[in-house]
Amino acid sequence: MTQPVPTSITRRETEPGRPPVIEIVWSDGHTAAYPPRLLRDACPCATCRERRAEPAAKPLLTVLAPEETVPLAVTGMKPVGQYAYAIEFSDGHSSGIYTLEYLRELG
Ligand SMILES: [Zn+2]
Repeated sequence: MTQPVPTSITRRETEPGRPPVIEIVWSDGHTAAYPPRLLRDACPCATCRERRAEPAAKPLLTVLAPEETVPLAVTGMKPVGQYAYAIEFSDGHSSGIYTLEYLRELG
């Protein structure tokens, strides 16, 4: 089985006031839309994976971090080698390397 590759990656506006989604058209004809929050929550970098593995603390009050009060956006996406993309987010985080396989799974 060959890994489908993106034939186009675009930012697409959905509704006014919401950050644009990343739309990927794959070589096998599949089209997937990726909301920035989904990509950010799925960040495969070591720091984020560790954070997700921590037992969830249940504070009495949910305190929003400053970066959570503004809509998250994808500010950059660049190829890493032939099989992965580095995605940069508006919260300044950019250490996640998303393989094509992983992106395909997320979509
Ligand atoms: Zn990360």
